[in-house]
Amino acid sequence: MYAQVIVDVAHSEVDKIFEYSCPDDVKVGCRVKVPFGSRTLDGFVVGLSRTTDYPPEKVKSISSVFDELPALVPECFSLMERISSRFKVPKAVALRLFLPSEMRRGAVREIYKKYAKLGDMSVPISKTAKKQAEILEFLKDKPEYDYTRLCESFGRAAVNALEAKGAIVCERRRVMRDPFKGDEKTEPAKTLTPAQSAAVESVESVNKRVHLLHGVTGSGKTEIYLQLIAREIAKGKTAIFLVPEISLTPQMLAQLRARFKGEAAIMHSGLSAGERFDEWWRLRSGEAKIAIGARSAVFAPLENLGVIIVDEEHDASYQSETAPRYSTAEIARMRAEYNDCKLVLGSATPSVESFRLAREGVYNLISLPDRINARPLPEMIIADMRKEARRGNGSIFSLALREELDAALSAGNQAIIFLNRRGYSQKVVCRDCGYVAKCEQCDVTLTYHSEENCLKCHYCGNRYRMLPACPECGGMHIRYAGTGTQKIVSELTELFPSARIIRMDNDTVSGKDGHYKILSKFGKKEADILVGTQMIAKGHDFPSVTLVGVLDADMSLHFEDYRSGERTFQLITQVSGRSGRAEESGKVVLQTYCPENYILRYAVNYDYYGFYENEVRLRKATFYPPFALIVRVMATGTDKDLTVSALKGVFTEIDGLRQRDPAEFLFLNRMSSPVKKIQGKYRYQVLARLKSDVHLKEIYETAAKYTGKDVLVYVEENPSNLS
Ligand code: ADP
Ligand code: ZN
Repeated sequence: MYAQVIVDVAHSEVDKIFEYSCPDDVKVGCRVKVPFGSRTLDGFVVGLSRTTDYPPEKVKSISSVFDELPALVPECFSLMERISSRFKVPKAVALRLFLPSEMRRGAVREIYKKYAKLGDMSVPISKTAKKQAEILEFLKDKPEYDYTRLCESFGRAAVNALEAKGAIVCERRRVMRDPFKGDEKTEPAKTLTPAQSAAVESVESVNKRVHLLHGVTGSGKTEIYLQLIAREIAKGKTAIFLVPEISLTPQMLAQLRARFKGEAAIMHSGLSAGERFDEWWRLRSGEAKIAIGARSAVFAPLENLGVIIVDEEHDASYQSETAPRYSTAEIARMRAEYNDCKLVLGSATPSVESFRLAREGVYNLISLPDRINARPLPEMIIADMRKEARRGNGSIFSLALREELDAALSAGNQAIIFLNRRGYSQKVVCRDCGYVAKCEQCDVTLTYHSEENCLKCHYCGNRYRMLPACPECGGMHIRYAGTGTQKIVSELTELFPSARIIRMDNDTVSGKDGHYKILSKFGKKEADILVGTQMIAKGHDFPSVTLVGVLDADMSLHFEDYRSGERTFQLITQVSGRSGRAEESGKVVLQTYCPENYILRYAVNYDYYGFYENEVRLRKATFYPPFALIVRVMATGTDKDLTVSALKGVFTEIDGLRQRDPAEFLFLNRMSSPVKKIQGKYRYQVLARLKSDVHLKEIYETAAKYTGKDVLVYVEENPSNLS
């Protein structure tokens, strides 16, 4: 037999198929080791043949085969072709997406355990072999017993002697590391409301590939997903369920485990490498049929998919920020086409792009305008912070928010205070000369962390000692500007001394289950107020929360990004959706410096349609996505001159495209990136706005051409972060 092999090297020069001779039992999809020049490399078998076009004596043979069951499912090869041609990455890089990284490095292995049980009882045991008799007695009423522990108790010699005689038989079996041991709750399916049933029926009966489930927060989308999955499982199919950031949604996980038990496998970065590997393997071997996870779970090793679900489809985390820079929905669509199955996108605030496709009839649009049991959406109160300042209120909290907090706490309810920015954004400024402390490796402002009394860079994680004096002018008037979650907590503690307050942001969350601990503490009502950043906006369901305060509702409006309005609308709707989800109705206080802003007005009125119509009109008039394509080509490297010259080359080629087809280019320029350096690497970029994607392939090819060992050049489409 001859095997066609792709070697696991991310380099365009070896991005070909090589041929090796191999034993007859090798299967397509197996991982192998192959001789390559003077080295031995890992590779993937992508095809097999009886004959070869090369002179057989010149064909080398495979060194070893890893898998009995091929690690790669057949679908991988079709997706590999599509991904590598779409994003101009080597085929090996595309294949890697389908394997857990710990498996590639060979860092974890499956665990095997040996078990012993009674065998042939007619075998004579010598009278002097006391231990052997004891072992037989011990095993008498046991179906089997752990071999290692048996040896520990009775001695290896006695155990082995019995095994050799056949008086006991031993068997080596694979055991799975179960990350959810002891989590044995069971939960039956809920009876669907008429609106939920109609949604499920619509997905089943409407003959379209993609379905957009637009349901307000608390409309019961989760139950719809679960029942869609259950129906496919009953038909003998499999399912993928994607959520934005799985560690932030422990309740969702608990719910899925309670409903589907061992049929669900969780692909979760918080698991240990071994657990992750075993969960992956449970999917590959067919033991588990439902893959649940964040972005990368779209590559779950499942065959025969019945449905793919993308919850909170608008979320920015679905965009990959490393090569290949895919959008999860696009990959999900490829898989849905391959498997001829349904793709369900769900959100309370669908992205403008998706909603437009639904409006135009490309997607099946399913709307759930009401909360479960007709519970009201929370009442929105706008607090104009300019007026507060004029009234002499210099605090972070408006009068309205203080009163509502007081009311919620007195009634024994819980509150969430949301800060619309990351971490603790206190920068360090010298009042004498205006010096601002920056990271040495990155072109970004450092942030002060009072708990550790140090300065941190949020891009590379570097820490710096607090400055006793200004390094520029020697002045002693160092000041901290800005508001962070720590400051909010300390002000809250002064205002409400008896309230129990917990904080959740990138600094308080660490370790495997950091999020889970904080969220479950709050869920068990061991705290009254939860203070946090973006991470607390996502789909939590805390029944006792009746108040949500958004401290700077307009903050994200000021980012220079065509999507800032959309992001603000989504964020306000999502955080507000945490309030009043159970019996008691909820309230939301939005603090803002621009209450007249149209985005805020649509958000306050829960007017997604108004927001959408307005946004689409604006983008159409100004030629922004979905009416255009924004492309950023980034060159980064540690050598400034090489980086600049690579970028120049890229620009010249793209400019050549423009000269040949000027009508396609709405905008083209090159510049240093807003953040000029990250982790010691310079960043220069070409920014283009195109009427369509007709030249996209050429742009990817240009980037690949200028990527070398010193400079990395990559393409981003409609990037959500332009820093
Ligand atoms: P969404 O994901 O749309 O924000 P959820 O799925 O979290 O909404 O549902 C909101 C609440 O309604 C949850 O507490 C959920 O348990 C409850 N719920 C959902 N469907 C039903 C149903 N059919 N019957 C009773 N309660 C339901
Ligand atoms: Zn840094």
